[in-house]
Amino acid sequence: MDESGERRGLWSWVLDLVYPGLCHGCGEGIAGDRSLCGACRDSLPSLRMPFCRSCGEEFEGRIEGAFDCPNCRDLEFSFEFARPALPNHPLVLGMIHDLKYGRRIELAGELGRLAGRAFADDPRLAVALAEGWPLVPVPLHRRRRLWRYFNQAEEIARSLARATGLPLCPALRRIRSTGSQTRLSRAQRLKNLRGAFALSAAGGTFAAAKPAGAVVVDDVFTTGATSDECARMLRRAGVQKVVVVTVMRG
Ligand SMILES: [Zn+2]
Ligand SMILES: [Zn+2]
Repeated sequence: MDESGERRGLWSWVLDLVYPGLCHGCGEGIAGDRSLCGACRDSLPSLRMPFCRSCGEEFEGRIEGAFDCPNCRDLEFSFEFARPALPNHPLVLGMIHDLKYGRRIELAGELGRLAGRAFADDPRLAVALAEGWPLVPVPLHRRRRLWRYFNQAEEIARSLARATGLPLCPALRRIRSTGSQTRLSRAQRLKNLRGAFALSAAGGTFAAAKPAGAVVVDDVFTTGATSDECARMLRRAGVQKVVVVTVMRG
């Protein structure tokens, strides 16, 4: 076993002591590296048609064909579309919250596998699978990463890479701290995010080859301002198409 394998082994052993395999939903004991039991996992709804083709917001009623919701109708995104794997759900929101603020890094495995549902359910993502588009996590500023020890989007993307077979490419880095965006409007968020990202060395090499596409990965899709700014950077650097995949619609 190499050194990193040994470290991972020790780490999961420590986590087993602290969090002994309990389902995050019902508290039942579970085996292996899962965070949800089969019943809780099966109880989670997938995104149901019809939903907005740009942001994945579900719509009540009957709509034939693709449509944009009232929020997206007048917006020009740099990405082709954003596809949350699941609609807003309290159990998943709780897991994401514990991953980010409780530093429960082991939850990223289950969340990444849940994000994989987007690829199983949405035919628009078949081209990404067929052409092996890399997964690009939304970057975290160094200061926030130091506090949390990890970037939740990158950990989710790592698990999603295992589930889909797509490569992980941390192509972007955050060069300016943007603070919390939760209380800002979409326009304020966009302004706040300008100049916040830059290409990493790996991202520069990747984009310079004018690749066909990339998949930006984040935990939740809310206003789309952050993933849109990531897509804009990638497109400007030469990536032809960018799509966004998140675990959940915010
Ligand atoms: Zn359960
Ligand atoms: Zn929309």
